[in-house]
Amino acid sequence: MTTAIELQTDVLCEARNVSHDFVMPNGSRLRVLENINVAIKPLEVVALLGPSGCGKSTILRILAGLIKPTEGEVFYRGQRVEGLTPGVGIVFQSFALYPWMTVAENVEIVLRAAGLPPEEQKARAEKAIRTVGLAGFEEAYPRELSGGMKQRLGIARALSVHPEFLFMDEPFSHVDALTAEGLRAEVIDLWEPEDSNPSSILMVSHDIKEVVYMADRIVVLSSHPGRVRTIVENPLPRPRDTRSRAFEELVDYLHEIITGTEMPDAAGPAVREGRIAPLPKTSTSEVVGLLEYLDSKGGVDDIFDVAAETDHEFGHMMAITKAAEMLNFVDTPKQGIVLTLEGRRFLAAEAETRKELWREQILKLKLFQDVYALLQREEGEVSGDMVREMIIMALPRENYEEMFATMVRWARFGNLFAYEEDADRLSLQ
Ligand code: ADP
Ligand code: MG
Repeated sequence: MTTAIELQTDVLCEARNVSHDFVMPNGSRLRVLENINVAIKPLEVVALLGPSGCGKSTILRILAGLIKPTEGEVFYRGQRVEGLTPGVGIVFQSFALYPWMTVAENVEIVLRAAGLPPEEQKARAEKAIRTVGLAGFEEAYPRELSGGMKQRLGIARALSVHPEFLFMDEPFSHVDALTAEGLRAEVIDLWEPEDSNPSSILMVSHDIKEVVYMADRIVVLSSHPGRVRTIVENPLPRPRDTRSRAFEELVDYLHEIITGTEMPDAAGPAVREGRIAPLPKTSTSEVVGLLEYLDSKGGVDDIFDVAAETDHEFGHMMAITKAAEMLNFVDTPKQGIVLTLEGRRFLAAEAETRKELWREQILKLKLFQDVYALLQREEGEVSGDMVREMIIMALPRENYEEMFATMVRWARFGNLFAYEEDADRLSLQ
């Protein structure tokens, strides 16, 4: 059965040509992964990095043998995996603890499932709990633990089976920043000795700094469907100093890879050259919401953090950011999103002034200039179809109905022109 496969002793676990479709409730198939090739070697930490929804967790589950891929194969130490992948311990993003069991029991249950005798269960559980710094909390219940302690318990569980290969799915996303920093360093400490397990770690993250701190290799994924965009080696020596210049340079580099083709900056030249640019599908309140959020953060934040903290899907957050940038309310240097002077002025203004400032900004966009000029020429009234045609001519590949709807919302907010749906008529106010 293994004859066709060249023996790769330097590979611990591997996904070959993996594609995956999910079947939706209505029976249609959604392709979430396309031709994924990833190999993890012994003694290595590999990270899957990409925006929310790109398929990171699905790749992890496929490598763990929890999901059978639609196409392609998984290998562990050169053997094709059918069913669960041997040697794997998993730390899930949600803690997956049993609330009615104590800390010790939550670990022992995993060892019992692994078939260990009761004596051994107790001894190993105790050691794992000590290793993650939960000694003294053996008899506590999960509800009595902080987020960071719950995560430690999740790690203790995964480590207690002495897995050769540790999988972690966004393990620190539910703990505060300071605790996360400590836990990252502790996991690396556990992994580092070459003669003890875990030998390798596969982690999933959308946090660039986290993967630069932890990983030896970073698999950068793109979305819809998830594909490997590139794999970046991380040569930084350990222990890593998150404030060193080399560290920051690698963070910047990854940031550029991820955002380079998609960042709002792409709208810049089109606007400046006076062509009609697509309007991101966003409501005015979403744009205002972003500005207010940024203000609460002192005027600057990282786009990944904004998406995570405001509960917006990453792609939609990009659309809102792009909209705010087209309106000159934010700037998007490679590190993140920054309120501009105009943005601050807008936030400081009363409701009526905000509308004026909004109007001023949309009138810098070619689409609004053209529609406004058309309205003036036509004595204040034009049909919606006329404007739709304008949009189709300028941007044949855009969804013109959506763009029309967004345009109407933006224009209404700035009191620039109104739209009556029944009559399909735009009019100056
Ligand atoms: P990530 O971990 O990168 O956020 P996931 O692997 O969880 O992404 O999901 C990838 C895509 O697959 C998403 O669009 C998600 O909505 C979809 N998806 C995940 N699990 C299922 C499922 N069980 N059924 C249908 N769609 C799913
Ligand atoms: Mg996930």
